[in-house]
Amino acid sequence: MFLKRIEMQGFKSFADRIVIDFDNPVTGIVGPNGCGKSNISDAIRWVLGEQSVKSLRGDKMTDVIFAGSEARKAMNMAEVTLVFDNSNHYLNSDLDEIEITRRIYNTEEDAEYLINHRNVRLRDIQDLILDTSLGKDSLSMITQGNISQFAEAKPYDRRGIFEEAAGVSKYKKRKIESLNKLERTKENLERTLDILNELEKQVSPLKRQARKAELYREKKQRLEEIEVAVLVDDIKRLSEERNNVEKSVFDLENQIVSQQDTIQLLENTNFTSKKDLKTLDLEIDSIQDKIVKTINEIQVLEKRQVEIDEKRKYQIEHGTSQEKINEMKALIEEAKFEFDDRTNRLNKTNADIELLTNNLSEIAVRLADASLKKEETSNIVNRLKNRIEVLKDVIRDPFSSQSQAGVKSIISNRNALYGIMGVVGQELIPVEGYEEAIATALGGASYNIATKDDECARSAIEFLKKNKSGRATFLPMNALKERYVKTEDSIVCNNTNGYLGTCNSFVTCSREFDIVKDSLLGNILICDNLENANILANLLKYNYKIVTLDGDVIHRGGSMTGGKVKNEINIVTASSELNRIEKDLVSYEAESVLAQKEYDSLLRQKDNIDANITEQRISLAKLEPIVDAKRSKYEKMLADFELINPDNLDNDESFNSALVQQLAQGYASRDEFSTALKLKRDDRQKLSAEIDRKDGQIRLLRRKLDEANGSIRQISSDKAVIETKIENSMNRLASEYQMTYEYALENSNLEINEELKEEVGSLRKDISALGNINMDAPEQFTEVNERYEFLKKNYDDLVASRDKILSAIEEMDEIMKTQFMETFNLINGELNNTFSALFGGGKARLVLEDENDILNSGIDIDFQPPGKSVKSIRLFSGGEKTLIAICVLFTILKVKPVPLIVFDEVEAALDQANVERFVKHVRTFEKQSQFLIITHRPGTMAECDVLYGVTMQNRGISQMLKVKLVDAIDMAEQDDSTILEDKL
Ligand code: ATP
Repeated sequence: MFLKRIEMQGFKSFADRIVIDFDNPVTGIVGPNGCGKSNISDAIRWVLGEQSVKSLRGDKMTDVIFAGSEARKAMNMAEVTLVFDNSNHYLNSDLDEIEITRRIYNTEEDAEYLINHRNVRLRDIQDLILDTSLGKDSLSMITQGNISQFAEAKPYDRRGIFEEAAGVSKYKKRKIESLNKLERTKENLERTLDILNELEKQVSPLKRQARKAELYREKKQRLEEIEVAVLVDDIKRLSEERNNVEKSVFDLENQIVSQQDTIQLLENTNFTSKKDLKTLDLEIDSIQDKIVKTINEIQVLEKRQVEIDEKRKYQIEHGTSQEKINEMKALIEEAKFEFDDRTNRLNKTNADIELLTNNLSEIAVRLADASLKKEETSNIVNRLKNRIEVLKDVIRDPFSSQSQAGVKSIISNRNALYGIMGVVGQELIPVEGYEEAIATALGGASYNIATKDDECARSAIEFLKKNKSGRATFLPMNALKERYVKTEDSIVCNNTNGYLGTCNSFVTCSREFDIVKDSLLGNILICDNLENANILANLLKYNYKIVTLDGDVIHRGGSMTGGKVKNEINIVTASSELNRIEKDLVSYEAESVLAQKEYDSLLRQKDNIDANITEQRISLAKLEPIVDAKRSKYEKMLADFELINPDNLDNDESFNSALVQQLAQGYASRDEFSTALKLKRDDRQKLSAEIDRKDGQIRLLRRKLDEANGSIRQISSDKAVIETKIENSMNRLASEYQMTYEYALENSNLEINEELKEEVGSLRKDISALGNINMDAPEQFTEVNERYEFLKKNYDDLVASRDKILSAIEEMDEIMKTQFMETFNLINGELNNTFSALFGGGKARLVLEDENDILNSGIDIDFQPPGKSVKSIRLFSGGEKTLIAICVLFTILKVKPVPLIVFDEVEAALDQANVERFVKHVRTFEKQSQFLIITHRPGTMAECDVLYGVTMQNRGISQMLKVKLVDAIDMAEQDDSTILEDKL
């Protein structure tokens, strides 16, 4: 059987659970009025998804729950299950047996649905029975009311059952859905069109405004581009000028310093030289005095000599021979004395020359040493001066290396940024002697930039990124923590040789930098040397970084770094090194001056000796002929005397001419003084010339110095003008274009020329001609246009969707027409046969009221019972009408077989003979359909395979049981209580 079983509990009058198994094709259900028979048919429809409360004979869906009786409380749940044999897959499922359950609680309106015990949606039930004729407008559930309605109905209202038979209900349902959808689509279309029209009004003006704003933006951008390029060009040019000016000032200052040094040196030298000159003058005066005195003495002596010579001449000519001899002897003695005296002087001069030559060699050696020393000290001074310049450069521009570009960019723009406190290496100043140690302890952190807080650091990093001007490390001061040495470790440190303290104790800084100092250096230790540092590191288990005064370091964990890099410069040590070197320079410069003085003095001595030797040689040259003459004179006198008195030569009379000796002495002194005077005069003349030369030099240098100072003043005022211009341009770059010079330089590649400058003018004119600009217009236009385009697409989609629905409806209409007509014609073809079988003759025909409108046309039934000529259904009796309706129904069932048919007292109005015909006809369908027939008619009961009696044993509660025919007839004819009593 198709319907194998019904189980229900709590449904309407069926309070107790009942189970009805169906094993036969025709099952009769009998019972007195109001016992609950029709509730069974209601139950079947309810399970199959009936949603009409009215057709279930209630006011609300929960009315199907047993409402209680005198003897029984109301229930709060109704549940009905139908079990179908689906082996021929009549239902839309692959399962062979299907159990459908519907359950409702009185707490909620919605019911639960289950298929084979699994919760499903109502829609799943509807899908399951779609096109099976079990659902709404069902062919399966026919009541007496349906039959009379069909007979009495207007032609149009009869369509339902034919449509169900033709299987067009589903299309109709879909068509209704499509029409609803079409309606919604049309509404959407209208709404969308309204908005589109509204947007269209906004789009055009916004588009114009946007184009204007774009134009403005383009022109402004171009203007900015050129202006930035002009500014960059100006700054570049002015910077070059400033560099040149600075270089000139630097050169001039160097020149001034060097000139001042030279002047000082020259003045010092001249001061000494002038003192020497005075001494020389005094010496010359004294020698001249001596010469005059000696010459005077010589003159007196010579006068006396002339007198003596006169006297001797007289004696020789007029005296006695003895007197002659005596006089001649005296003359010989004199000649001998003079000869000896001149020879001695000659020898002495030679000896002096030899001595002076020896002195000269000695001086030459000392001069070479002094020259070397002078060179050495001068080289050192130059080297120190160079180093000072380099250090000054580093102090003036400490971040010039490529790797410090980020730091440089931040520091040079610190006024434009916020919270930049300074660079660690410039703020933490090491105590004297600790520079290397602190520099090592800080390492790379020397170049870290301290900021007020982390937000400032973030914005500085943003600035570097935006300007692509390098990288830098920042120390946000609000995030820094003091570091320190643990107390127990401090005790170890203090008891270790060579431990000097923690690095932060050897640094001075402003109070606000204390946190930076303590954070970076609070736990770094200093030892005097590496050896002690090693001992301490070991004692502290290598938990601390230790640095030495030399800048060696033992890292945490034990690795060590040390050594020196030639000429390395560090911002931490630069200032202290500069101070030290400047002090060194002062002492080396003094040493250099001394060396120069020593050299000059030796050179002078050498010159003096040279001059002296020359003078001695001149004297020698003069003396040699004199000695020869004196010798000849003496020898001639000896020869003359031998001729006169050969025996008397060896007289004992000793030579005692004091006058001759004095004269000889006088001549020697005079010559000696003359040589000395000559030498001193030479000296004086040289010294005086030197002083004049140096005075000349000093005057020249002073003039140059004045000129240089004048130039510096001029250049400095030029520089101030240039710097103001640069600053103005930089400020404009920053305030108007938010750019640093470096960024602008990197990103601007326009070459400035006259054409560009003219373009600026025309751009300015164009911009002012544009008038008021809505700068938000492009964004607003994009927004509105996007919305417009989106809605436009929506609109097009809706139009497409509307067309699609319309064509689907058209297609469905075609299908429905075809299917409807096919079924309609089949039913019409079969109708006469059914009619003959039930009426025993006559004719019947279904007629479409309007053949041109198949889908809406009403359906008329024309028929002629045997022997009657009446055609209109309205003119027949009630029984005839029922029979006609049943005829049509059976014909439909023939054309469209249905596996389950529930008849609820459909034959009630028929007479006995017709009931028999009816029920016999039912049996002709028993192979294709299962029947549940609710009936009061014994004729019908007699043809049923099995009969169920419905009773109300307890008032208000229905019960079911199988009954025999005779009991069934009784049940139908008697009142309920009597039957029950009989049964029991
Ligand atoms: P008839 O032969 O006159 O057509 P019937 O046997 O078909 O009668 P039904 O219409 O099936 O009778 O049943 C009606 C009975 O069901 C009434 O007695 C009604 O009180 C009872 N009933 C309907 N709904 C409920 C409910 N929710 N709770 C309890 N009883 C109900």
